[in-house]
Amino acid sequence: MAYDPNNVFARILRGEIPCSKVREDEHTLAFHDINPQTPTHVLVIPKGAYVSWSDFAETASDAEIAALVRAVGVVAREQGVAEDGYRVLSNIGPHGNQEVEHLHIHVFGGRPLGRMVP
Ligand code: 5GP
Repeated sequence: MAYDPNNVFARILRGEIPCSKVREDEHTLAFHDINPQTPTHVLVIPKGAYVSWSDFAETASDAEIAALVRAVGVVAREQGVAEDGYRVLSNIGPHGNQEVEHLHIHVFGGRPLGRMVP
């Protein structure tokens, strides 16, 4: 899937659109979802131009991959959902209903989330 440099998360990364930032490091940015589905709903994104996990796995550096994984765990801890539990989710491509074509991880928490189907 080709990367559109004008997707909304690319624009957030360039500072063209504001976001409610949660944390940032060299390779990742985390911010509150504009339309939260749960009391805690944070998006964690790599700063690089990746659409999918396949793009990321095939072209990201080990440092970028480590940073993204680490950021999710740190966000959960810092947002106070680590103890009661939370859900991590990525929508990819048309079948995954991906709305924004920049790889992102949703971190949902703050209430019981029920079973996910599917
Ligand atoms: P997807 O369906 O692609 O996994 O989810 C994209 C998410 O991005 C949605 O939950 C949507 O609410 C969120 N989103 C879309 N535009 C913006 C925006 O401009 N700012 C923020 N913070 N979130 C956005």
